[in-house]
Amino acid sequence: MNFSLAGKTFIVMGVANKRSIAWGIARSLHNAGARLVFTYAGERLESSVRELADSLEAEGTLVLPCDVTSDEDIANCFAQIKEAVGTIHGLAHCIAFAKTEELKGEYLNTTRDGFLLAHNISSYSLTAVAKEARGLMTEGGSIVTLTYLGGERAIKNYNVMGVAKASLDASVRYLAADLGKDGIRVNSISAGPIRTLSAKVIGEFNTILKDIEENAPLRRTTTPEEVGDAAVFLFSNMSRGITGENIHVDSGYHIL
Ligand code: NAD
Repeated sequence: MNFSLAGKTFIVMGVANKRSIAWGIARSLHNAGARLVFTYAGERLESSVRELADSLEAEGTLVLPCDVTSDEDIANCFAQIKEAVGTIHGLAHCIAFAKTEELKGEYLNTTRDGFLLAHNISSYSLTAVAKEARGLMTEGGSIVTLTYLGGERAIKNYNVMGVAKASLDASVRYLAADLGKDGIRVNSISAGPIRTLSAKVIGEFNTILKDIEENAPLRRTTTPEEVGDAAVFLFSNMSRGITGENIHVDSGYHIL
């Protein structure tokens, strides 16, 4: 029993740039010996994701487009992965989106469109990709998604994204219940705030970071590397008895 993932293939969805938590997970997976398949949303991101993937200098890395709002895109992406690698052993779902104007002020002002968009991209997409991943996890597998404390508590400005995270958290439990019989585990990591492209649009984000630095038990903010290493645990055989679980990697802030 160890953390080595040599000979295993993992899909990492949601790298946008070097600050992305998905990139932290990718590096930890790479350090554990895993082969990686990256998926990105839209042509605009292709070159930066390819550049990052190439920087790993790993053999057999794939980089494919996958906009999770399109069932056709998801089906095409997984068909290409099946053809190229056959079996996969895990999937990191690191995808979320909400309109900037809905991430400040009162949750009460959330629009129907904004609500549906946030839930479509940030929550339903896990179910959509888990369905496709199941067919490729012929030796069992592990699915890990990223959530946030705003799904458990009302956190200022997190608003509709918090409601979408609560839906994502429930999906983790239902998917774990469905997929356990196939030897597939589904878990989430609740990451502490990290300054990424997505996080920057959350109102008063600097105040949130300062609060963590001053008050979290570990007195420091979370790094993508810490999340990446926890993900490797959830992907490895060391966590084989764990499914439907949420692990907080947030310097202990959630206990306060
Ligand atoms: P990020 O901006 O680097 O990553 C978000 C990713 O979602 C991007 O790669 C983006 O392209 C992708 N995405 C958006 N719409 C998509 C679509 N239609 N199809 C496919 N991909 C799409 O930011 P991040 O902070 O690394 O976010 C990754 C995950 O971590 C998100 O689920 C986020 O909610 C979660 N999270 C972030 C923090 C934080 O403070 N940064 C804390 C807890 C959880």
